Amino acid sequence: MDCLFCKIVAGEIPARKLYEDDQVFAFHDVNPQAPVHFLVIPKKHIRTLTDLDEGDKPLLGHIVHTAQRLASELGCDEGFRVAMNCNALGGQTVFHIHMHVLGQRQMHWPPG
Ligand code: 5GP
Repeated sequence: MDCLFCKIVAGEIPARKLYEDDQVFAFHDVNPQAPVHFLVIPKKHIRTLTDLDEGDKPLLGHIVHTAQRLASELGCDEGFRVAMNCNALGGQTVFHIHMHVLGQRQMHWPPG
């Protein structure tokens, strides 16, 4: 499968890994939009949020929990943002679901 993030999980493309277990992989974003900016992805290839099914609920919970735990480890307890972009209109550019975690700067609303 020609998927950038599947290749990162497989170690075929280098990434600054933060965490890995049997279900998820977390790594620093190559083009950070905040002093802390990392991505948490499922190892399983899921193209976008509209492809989720009932059985993916525990996996999504694990992604959120991993995001929170790593944000805390990286000193973001004062505040951070999580974001998941869905499809092109939602700003998604890599079609393997990922949770952005951004921290250590003031966030604003609404996002662009
Ligand atoms: P999206 O726009 O799909 O929500 O987010 C994709 C994210 O992946 C972007 O923030 C982009 O900087 C990041 N990204 C794209 N290619 C790579 C890569 O090869 N390595 C890493 N670490 N991040 C990437």
